[in-house]
Amino acid sequence: MTNQPYQIYVHIPFCKARCGYCAFSSCTNFQLCESYFHKLFEQIESTQITQKTISTIFIGGGTPSSVDVNYLDQLFAKLRQKFDLSTVEEITVECNPESVTTNLLACLKRNGVTRLSFGLQSTNNQTLKAIGRLHTYEQFVDALNLAHQMGFANINADLILGLPERVESFHNSVNTVVNLPLTHVSVYALEVHEGSEIADLVQSFAHTEDDLADMYDYACQTLEEHGFLRYEISNFAKPGRECKHNLGYWQEKRYYGFGPSASGFVGNVRYDNVQTLDEYLVTPTENLLTNQKEISLFEQANESAMLGLRLTQGLSLDTFHQSYNADFFQFFPNANHLLAKGYLAVVDGNVLVPKDKFYVVNSILCELLTI
Ligand code: SF4
Repeated sequence: MTNQPYQIYVHIPFCKARCGYCAFSSCTNFQLCESYFHKLFEQIESTQITQKTISTIFIGGGTPSSVDVNYLDQLFAKLRQKFDLSTVEEITVECNPESVTTNLLACLKRNGVTRLSFGLQSTNNQTLKAIGRLHTYEQFVDALNLAHQMGFANINADLILGLPERVESFHNSVNTVVNLPLTHVSVYALEVHEGSEIADLVQSFAHTEDDLADMYDYACQTLEEHGFLRYEISNFAKPGRECKHNLGYWQEKRYYGFGPSASGFVGNVRYDNVQTLDEYLVTPTENLLTNQKEISLFEQANESAMLGLRLTQGLSLDTFHQSYNADFFQFFPNANHLLAKGYLAVVDGNVLVPKDKFYVVNSILCELLTI
């Protein structure tokens, strides 16, 4: 496992405005960009390299597309200087529609970006406004068309389920995106944090658990009918267009994390960076990593089941055996009984949660895991 190429995640903690539901680490003071990138480059520069070869890069946020392209050029130059990107398979950058320009896309193109991920969230302009997004659906379509014109063919759009809107509005978003030139759609459930700006608004729509489950089923069915196959609970892709970077997380691949709140998994150690931009700027570079924890082989085996069973393909029994020197069904005694009840299945050497049981995957994992 540790000889495999690593992945890189870089967090860009700037947004033009804060959305009412957001729990990510980001700030709206772009005057801090200069100091931030300076610190970020210092962190990348001083990182002790365990594996130089990189398979995927994900630049997330925040809103990476909102910062000056010079910083993005410098970031890619820094990564190229420090790591071996010659065999990189995928580079994703998260974009918000209102900040997509020819200038930005040209910068991403010259730096080898292969995949764009748009925070669309809904196609209903009223909903977008209510949750504090800065773009309209029309701006998203313009950005998508521009991206295609400039040679980007691998594009994701995020949707959110459970927003303060009517069920029909969510259905309409799903029905609209399936007809757009996208290769990937993610459907995330809204997490409402008590006291957040939109908590009351969401409450007023009173979506029940059953409503949310029906909306999720509707999304799965409609997306699959249009060729977007579910490969993870929230992720749907045209064949061969699964996000390699995220697949890596679910397959326990190792990754470096740079920037506030970014986590990493290097060797057998998981870590987080300090949470906020303010902390990141004042903390000495050598102290940016917190919560460093060595993950034992036993914990890794549990994690690999927990993450792997969220994938529709499940996890390979052979790989599990090779990695942990244990038979899956001996390591997890409850797996036998879950298999007998049809909550697990073995297909082509992989153990997986059958499609019709995916909605209870969390309960299945609770019963399965030994920690
Ligand atoms: S654009 Fe994304 S990261 Fe920024 S505030 Fe909105 S949801 Fe949060």
